[in-house]
Amino acid sequence: MGEVDAVVVGAGPNGLTAAVTLARAGLGVRVYEANETVGGGARTAGLTLPGFLHDPCSAVHPLGAGSPVWAELPLGRFGLEWVHPDLPLAHPVAGGKAAVLSRSVDETARSLDGVDSDRYRRLLEPFLGRWDDLAPEFLRPVLARPPRHPVLFGRFGLRALEPVAALARPFRGERARALIAGMAGHAIAPLSSPFTGGVALMFALAGHTGGWPFPRRGSQALSDALAAYLSSLGGEVRTGVRVTSMRELPEARAYLFDTSPQGLVAIAGDRLPDRYVRRLARYRHGPAVFKVDYALHGPVPWTAPECRRAGTVHLGATLEEVGAALAAVGRGQAPDPPFVITAQPSLFDDSRAPEGKHVLWAYGHVPFRWTGDLTDAIERQIERFAPGFRDLVLARAPAGPAAIEARDANNVGGDISVGRFGGRQALFRPVLSRVPYSTPDPSILLCSAATPPGPGVHGMCGYHAAAVVLRRLRA
Ligand SMILES: Cc1cc2nc3c(=O)[nH]c(=O)nc-3n(C[C@H](O)[C@H](O)[C@H](O)COP(=O)(O)OP(=O)(O)OC[C@H]3O[C@@H](n4cnc5c(N)ncnc54)[C@H](O)[C@@H]3O)c2cc1C
Repeated sequence: MGEVDAVVVGAGPNGLTAAVTLARAGLGVRVYEANETVGGGARTAGLTLPGFLHDPCSAVHPLGAGSPVWAELPLGRFGLEWVHPDLPLAHPVAGGKAAVLSRSVDETARSLDGVDSDRYRRLLEPFLGRWDDLAPEFLRPVLARPPRHPVLFGRFGLRALEPVAALARPFRGERARALIAGMAGHAIAPLSSPFTGGVALMFALAGHTGGWPFPRRGSQALSDALAAYLSSLGGEVRTGVRVTSMRELPEARAYLFDTSPQGLVAIAGDRLPDRYVRRLARYRHGPAVFKVDYALHGPVPWTAPECRRAGTVHLGATLEEVGAALAAVGRGQAPDPPFVITAQPSLFDDSRAPEGKHVLWAYGHVPFRWTGDLTDAIERQIERFAPGFRDLVLARAPAGPAAIEARDANNVGGDISVGRFGGRQALFRPVLSRVPYSTPDPSILLCSAATPPGPGVHGMCGYHAAAVVLRRLRA
């Protein structure tokens, strides 16, 4: 490639999206990636036995399918194909019953108990069909501009700022309460935390809009599509290069860091004033996860038939059980039982495992930098809802916080959200600012999930950071 206008450090979904956004505007872009493959938290690897394809990090993509920036990119031409399970999500409770999140609001409502069906419809009704208006609002920095649909967004915001415990309070049956708590559990924060209601609402609305799909052949296909599109625009990716200092990077007009705040300081700290570096040092990490990938002899024998049709299955028998697990990790204790999130892509995509065999993706939350082994607790929780599961295991690949960080340096201490969801950081990250991607050096920006709108495979942090660069270069 010719001149390098912009350098991106890190080829995660945000780094690649930043690079693509800049290359589409005609800039010469080069990306440096520490791993041998692109993708960061959106990769696929053979972690167990030959023929089994696992996602070491993300597997399920409600926010990817609903990403406002990716909707504008021709990723299908570069190999991305979304696979939709029959049901986005099932959440089993006691007695072999389950709540489901279906693309259809009616099917979802019918899976709840008694009056909860109407309550669910009333909760979602004002927002149905409005994803395209709402997502660009909640997937951006809060202070950047006034909302384009103030009434709609105000209505959503009022529900969203509630703790999920309050959002779920009017529901009477265990199925609705567990379903809502489980969706909020992705925030990895106590159910009493403000904005966890918003997380549940966002995932429900995503389910009713674009679903919770997997990329065919695994999450790597999404990253490969972004990288191939970048290359078609003249951009370049250099893998296997861990950047440790600005001196290793070529002269450029902008440097975008798809790294943790610490990663940015380690590389570019000598270009940043001490005051800003001290502000970044106050950035707080959240709990970690313990992940297990399984190669299975057959499909998971869920007791509740709905779970056999779902891409994602959440395991926590009641709202209280999910809450107790999240509260325990917040206190620095291992949860027992853990709230376990599982995904079963091979039920819907036969490229993921040899014929008749299956993969299962599972994780539970643990304290930051926890060094124990959650494998047995995860398997006991799966067995509770799928007796006989353990007999199907051909191989397992456990990964605790240290291994999760080793796979991707952004996941400091196993914190897959690259920052705690709570307090000021629920909305403002890494620092309180109208343009949180900026640093005091106008050529240096942060574009990872440590910036708004935060974690998840959606590319919106990278997109917004690139937009700041483009505005500056054109000014
Ligand atoms: C176990 C797990 C499960 C998850 N499940 C889901 C899910 O199902 N759905 C979902 O939407 N999200 C999920 N996530 C979260 C999601 O993966 C992240 O929020 C997302 O990948 C963040 O994207 P990013 O581009 O900011 O950073 P990352 O994806 O972390 O990418 C950062 C990249 O930068 C590279 N890098 C870092 N430092 C350097 C350096 N010094 N030099 C060169 N390269 C460097 C890293 O190697 C990495 O490739 C999960 C994450 C994990 C770990």
